[in-house]
Amino acid sequence: MSRCRALMKPVDLRKSKKGFQVVHVCTSCGIVRYNIVALATEQDDFEAMLALMQQAHRSQLG
Ligand SMILES: [Zn+2]
Repeated sequence: MSRCRALMKPVDLRKSKKGFQVVHVCTSCGIVRYNIVALATEQDDFEAMLALMQQAHRSQLG
């Protein structure tokens, strides 16, 4: 489906019925994707990802 292969940047985190969704935005064309995150088995990864996203927010703010 993706036409460009630019980097997808995680910009937000949302809670859904299935767990959490990571909102990714393409750095080139700006398309938005929602990726489900499996919480129960990937707790450490989830927390690492949260930290990553907080860094992304900080860098956006300058
Ligand atoms: Zn793109």
